[in-house]
Amino acid sequence: MHVPLLIIGGGLSGLAAAIRFARFNPDVLILEKHSRIGGLNSYYYRNNSLFETGLHAITNFAPPQEKAAPLNRLLRQLKLKRQDFTFHEQIKSDIFFSNQEILSFSNDFALLHQEIETKFPRRAPGFSRLLQIIKDYDPFQAAAFRSARTLLLTTLDEPLLVDMLLCPLMYYGSSLENDMDLGQFVIMFRAIFLEGMFRPEGSIKDFLDTLLKQYQELGGKIRLQATVARIIHQDRKISAVELTNGEVITCDNLLSTIGHEETLAALAVPPLPKQRPRLGFVESIFRLPAGCRQNLTQEKTIIFFNSSEKFRYQRPDHLVDFSSGVICFPGNFQDLKAQPFLELRATHLADYGSWKALAADRAAYLAAKSETAGQSKLALEKIIGNFSQDIVYEDTFTPLTIERFTAKKEGAIYGCPDKIKNGDIGYDNLFLAGTDQGFLGIVGSMLSGVSMINQHILSRT
Ligand SMILES: Cc1cc2nc3c(=O)[nH]c(=O)nc-3n(C[C@H](O)[C@H](O)[C@H](O)COP(=O)(O)OP(=O)(O)OC[C@H]3O[C@@H](n4cnc5c(N)ncnc54)[C@H](O)[C@@H]3O)c2cc1C
Repeated sequence: MHVPLLIIGGGLSGLAAAIRFARFNPDVLILEKHSRIGGLNSYYYRNNSLFETGLHAITNFAPPQEKAAPLNRLLRQLKLKRQDFTFHEQIKSDIFFSNQEILSFSNDFALLHQEIETKFPRRAPGFSRLLQIIKDYDPFQAAAFRSARTLLLTTLDEPLLVDMLLCPLMYYGSSLENDMDLGQFVIMFRAIFLEGMFRPEGSIKDFLDTLLKQYQELGGKIRLQATVARIIHQDRKISAVELTNGEVITCDNLLSTIGHEETLAALAVPPLPKQRPRLGFVESIFRLPAGCRQNLTQEKTIIFFNSSEKFRYQRPDHLVDFSSGVICFPGNFQDLKAQPFLELRATHLADYGSWKALAADRAAYLAAKSETAGQSKLALEKIIGNFSQDIVYEDTFTPLTIERFTAKKEGAIYGCPDKIKNGDIGYDNLFLAGTDQGFLGIVGSMLSGVSMINQHILSRT
């Protein structure tokens, strides 16, 4: 079999790239190793009930009339109609630090601005200067690493406020420990604080099904349970991929969304020199009957919290660092249909190596997962009150779960810390898209797929 474009990976970047290409040429094939699409943002069933694996909230909310906003541009590039989706905006989210400092924000940026003016009045002029810098900065220009933390400290001169602003942006989009590249900071600040968060009606399955339908209606093809074992190349040119079943598929162009080092491994070329640490996460889902709702905060969509003196966004030296994290209430978005259950999701930083050390001992691994859920509940209850006694279902994903289902090295959701912003890893007809190209999250990875097709592939075919 031969196709003009092969895409490795049916996650959000692969799907978006494939739709974009299929608009001009239906001869495109996605190869996905899993039995479902979605990659890091997918779903599974337990007791006939659907559970989402990733979706807290989608960033970059924009009303339909803001034609130039990233969300509306993305939909246009994919030829998807805004009217085909119902988007529910967040209600309100909090950044909650242990000394009882709280900054609330919503999709109306005025709320965060006012919170800062009220709670950090001396920092208000600095915050206005920061907003101007963010407005003027072009994060898409090639630039050397510039520390966002240093800029924030200089502009705001208040370490607590710096940590509070960085906390949501890091949790939702930083592959780097304790800092962010200024460009990535600007992208995430705009995406979360200036634009805001939402979720589509239904589950992530409905969202993925809409993308797949669009792709297939344009004539694109996908193969599930098709794992690429090897990328065949000579000199700097790719000719084909070989699947684990031995089948060889030839192509003119190849887009890999599986990660930089993962792609180098498939090329059988030497790995990169030792990189900075990759960040791992654990996430627990807690489901309660809907009747418990009044006990819990109803008006919050997401709480980003830190309960230690110093906010540490770094790989812990043990299984999980419960001192900070994210609590998401996927049912608390504006005008969402009432669900028969109440769900909470809790995310914390985790150490892949510590989990890997348990991999050979199933009983110890399961015990550590159960202990993680228990400790996570304790951390959450200090913030939102008791709920553990009402849980009817719980599940915990570790970095090993993510590695197993997505083949992401070390189960690192945000991939390697050093991004390849132009997607070019030195081959004539192979490009990277997705997490390791540099845009993170759902909208980010989809924009990455689209922009790599626009930049590198459409001009050649
Ligand atoms: C628990 C969790 C919560 C999250 N919450 C949010 C959120 O609320 N909002 C948000 O915006 N983002 C969230 N994210 C992040 C978001 O899911 C990712 O940034 C995005 O989905 C990445 O997409 P991708 O296409 O780059 O990578 P991936 O999703 O990793 O896609 C790569 C695909 O390649 C496949 N693959 C790997 N190796 C091979 C191979 N050899 N052959 C064939 N196929 C292969 C994998 O199975 C996978 O499907 C979350 C992630 C997780 C794990």
